[in-house]
Amino acid sequence: MKLAGGCACQQIRYKLLADPMIVHACHCRDCQRITGSAFVINMWIERKFVETDGAAPKSSRLKGGTGQNHDVFFCDACGTYLWSFYHGAPGDALFVRAGTLDKPEAVAPDVHIFTRSKVPWLTLPKDAPAFKTFYPIEKIWAKESLERLKQNVAERKGSRTRKSRSG
Ligand SMILES: [Zn+2]
Ligand SMILES: [Zn+2]
Repeated sequence: MKLAGGCACQQIRYKLLADPMIVHACHCRDCQRITGSAFVINMWIERKFVETDGAAPKSSRLKGGTGQNHDVFFCDACGTYLWSFYHGAPGDALFVRAGTLDKPEAVAPDVHIFTRSKVPWLTLPKDAPAFKTFYPIEKIWAKESLERLKQNVAERKGSRTRKSRSG
């Protein structure tokens, strides 16, 4: 699967160099507000696998529901939100909005989260894993994705150590 996408004005284009580790449908109030919709579809993928060309997205910092910072990245020209960086999430990864893909039908949510604030008119598929808040990663993720996450967490720690040494 080769996934590519961009913002509404196409000033920012991106490619994903790997499949997402997992795809979330998040029904939390923050995601509802940021998207102006019922939920967001986020592809959780290592930052190094998100390749942009053209303009770099701008970002703003929000307080996440967990109390940890949440950076949202958007196109300066058209305002489309492309992805998020959650400071509290393990690893060095981005949550890329699947609605910005050229072919959004290429992915489907693996898990629905924060369904405690799901809009009542929306019925989820019966067999879809769904959680009132977050969920135990090791119970839901494929083995291969768990391996990638482990490596990604190690890489983030490594880059922090390097930064503190040089700074
Ligand atoms: Zn744009
Ligand atoms: Zn959310």
